[in-house]
Amino acid sequence: MSGIRIRKLHVRPLNFKLDRPLETAGGQIGSWPVVILDMHTDAGIVGVSFVGCFMPMLVKPVVSLLQDMGAMIEGDELSPVSIEAKLRAKSRLIGTQGPIAMAVAMIEISAWDALSKASNLPLCRLLGAKPRAHPVYLTIPAMTPSRVRELAQRALELQYAGVKCKLGHPDPSKDLALIDAVRSVCGPNFPIMVDYNQSLSVPDAIQRIQRLDDMGLGWIEEPTDAMNVEGHVKIANAVKTPVSLGENWHNPMEAARDILSGAADVVMPDVLTVGGISAWLKCAALAEIRGIPISAHSYPEISTQLLPLAATPHWLEHAEIFDSLFLNPVRPVNGNLIATEDPGCGVAWDEKVVARSAWT
Ligand SMILES: [Mg+2]
Repeated sequence: MSGIRIRKLHVRPLNFKLDRPLETAGGQIGSWPVVILDMHTDAGIVGVSFVGCFMPMLVKPVVSLLQDMGAMIEGDELSPVSIEAKLRAKSRLIGTQGPIAMAVAMIEISAWDALSKASNLPLCRLLGAKPRAHPVYLTIPAMTPSRVRELAQRALELQYAGVKCKLGHPDPSKDLALIDAVRSVCGPNFPIMVDYNQSLSVPDAIQRIQRLDDMGLGWIEEPTDAMNVEGHVKIANAVKTPVSLGENWHNPMEAARDILSGAADVVMPDVLTVGGISAWLKCAALAEIRGIPISAHSYPEISTQLLPLAATPHWLEHAEIFDSLFLNPVRPVNGNLIATEDPGCGVAWDEKVVARSAWT
């Protein structure tokens, strides 16, 4: 594969209309700003990656950074680790979070995608693992029992192995009503994970989670501020339900901090936020050292390629948000997702959808 060189990055901002609006504490979300990246090489191979920008104001900076970083790596060899190291070295003084980190991770992922395609292998095979089936849950982006029931029904019909609910209602009994809504549809033994999205204080978290402790929940995600390591250690020591952290790690050092301090019982790094494919695999190594189950946050297409490389694989997450952007969105079979055998990281654009989602 050596000798292939990067020719150009093609960056496209999208205003992506969601098939199903998301229900959040802050109201309904009907569309999502997305930036997609095509890395063109001199071998004619194109590596791809994308990021869902949470806020429209992030789109311009991410696009501009990708274009400028593209100019910095034009003509470089298609070596994802070296490309990432070069871009990180140049941005070290600025830090490892925010739009710069998003752009570096997108470039790293698209380079791995191109390298896998050049090797005619799916990413997991390029890195030495066979595709394997891993259980997948559906994340339910809803805050009312009626909508949660509808989506729990959908999870059953589409053969998901579990669901994840968003909690953190000011009235804790309303949180219980959401869990009851899932149980009423899926039965008492269906795996349910819950996510507080960093919304609670430490004492509040301990009190509220202890009320849930006998419900057999799969895990409690980010009960308090993701940067509050001591707080999470206190919570993890005070409750029986496993505490899950990881989607807000910005590098493997933050993973080491939480894993080695006992702040997290289970972990779920996000391949984009943590810095890319190499960074995610470093987190998997840390999880292995402590015997901690590792799941993947979002990006199920890429994550099905990553979990087979982990020694302690746990769950895949699917929120179905960006599915219509892809030619072959992932679909559970008997509760599992399995990595595709197509060369690359598992993402191919539906160009018709891309064309009608152009950012204006
Ligand atoms: Mg979460």
